[in-house]
Amino acid sequence: MLLRSGVRVTLAEKSTTYRRDFHGEILQPGGQRILDQLGVLDSASRRGARTLDGFQVLERGRVLLDIDYRRLEPPYGRLLALPQRHLLEELLAACHRLPGFTHLPGHRISALRDDRGRCTGAVFTGPAGTRTTVPARVVVAADGRFSRTRTLAGIGAGRREAFDQDIVWFTLPAPGRATGRVRIHRAAGTAVLVHDTHPDRLRVGWALPHGGWQAATAGGIAPIRDELAAAVPELADLLHRHLTGLSDLALLDVFAADAEEWVRDGLVLAGDAAHTHGPLGAQGINLALQDAATLHPVLLDALAAGRCTRERLAPFQRLRAPAAARVTRVQRLQAKAFLGTAGPAATYLRSRAAALVTRTPLGAHLTSRIAFGPVPVQVRTDLFTAAPRPTQKGARSQ
Ligand SMILES: Cc1cc2nc3c(=O)[nH]c(=O)nc-3n(C[C@H](O)[C@H](O)[C@H](O)COP(=O)(O)OP(=O)(O)OC[C@H]3O[C@@H](n4cnc5c(N)ncnc54)[C@H](O)[C@@H]3O)c2cc1C
Repeated sequence: MLLRSGVRVTLAEKSTTYRRDFHGEILQPGGQRILDQLGVLDSASRRGARTLDGFQVLERGRVLLDIDYRRLEPPYGRLLALPQRHLLEELLAACHRLPGFTHLPGHRISALRDDRGRCTGAVFTGPAGTRTTVPARVVVAADGRFSRTRTLAGIGAGRREAFDQDIVWFTLPAPGRATGRVRIHRAAGTAVLVHDTHPDRLRVGWALPHGGWQAATAGGIAPIRDELAAAVPELADLLHRHLTGLSDLALLDVFAADAEEWVRDGLVLAGDAAHTHGPLGAQGINLALQDAATLHPVLLDALAAGRCTRERLAPFQRLRAPAAARVTRVQRLQAKAFLGTAGPAATYLRSRAAALVTRTPLGAHLTSRIAFGPVPVQVRTDLFTAAPRPTQKGARSQ
């Protein structure tokens, strides 16, 4: 967005590839629309994606809750399981086709430049240990839930143990077994999330007590496989064939965080670096994209004024912090209702949510709020002054 508005941008990224097997990939309609407005949604999807009609919660095979995204206005009446690699490579290719872009792959941030309390750029360590200093009028820290930039700035992460469960992820090859949904299978004492993912695989998330990884894995893979097969009997054959060792599993430590400060003179924290959420309801990418779209006009305004001060950048936090806080509140309720063990409160919440969301017009409204956010965010395309150079005919974008 900044490049398209004629701003010079240096992107430093610690990794050199975008292969991230265990990272978020379900895109809500709000995020899809932003990517569409940037002209990368179709091309990223063409590399391989799965369309999902919505979320379902099942208990002993019975559908308890059905959040059907097809009730939303086309063309975004769906969830999209889009591998991050497809999306990031497409975004990067678009950046390379715009003037003013410098890419530093394999560069980790190692210091922030400071001039009497004002951030004036950053220092990066490259693959061969080389150090590169990038002077900048503003540094945007979009380096994720364990943001090094945030640490270097001495800003507290604001971590809270807001959830009772961690999630263990793995994928299974599953040709011909697509369900077209994100499903949460509830069973005695456990919950298992399953959704289709590209190419012909199922991505599975197993909820276990927060901090309970050591205890859960002490007996090796066999009891885990049995527990999962009992919870989702229709996947028993795939689990027994493909889940062969603990190394197939990846643990996600689930927590919420809200950084102590999002803006300072010359510095902004965005996405997970500013606020981290649980994976339930697939909101993290959506929020990060909406942060970017909200930040775009705020930054242009500050840059035009020649003053990227805390005051100039403050509207970003003012606009986005309520949306982030709301997602955490809703996710806590969802986690209690859909991942928690049975209890009167959880049972009550589940039945209330099921009745509301599945059948009523209010449910359609709630679905729209989950899909687009309480205050939908659009890209300010009216502020664009440059378009990416067209790709050469026959050439693959890279
Ligand atoms: C297992 C898992 C499943 C999830 N599922 C979903 C989902 O289905 N849908 C959803 O919406 N959200 C999901 N999330 C959350 C979602 O992935 C994040 O909220 C989202 O990716 C945040 O985007 P971001 O750009 O802020 O941070 P990230 O996507 O984490 O990107 C940060 C980037 O900064 C780079 N970086 C990190 N440190 C440095 C450094 N020191 N120097 C330079 N570069 C650095 C990283 O390599 C990375 O490219 C999931 C998260 C996990 C972990």
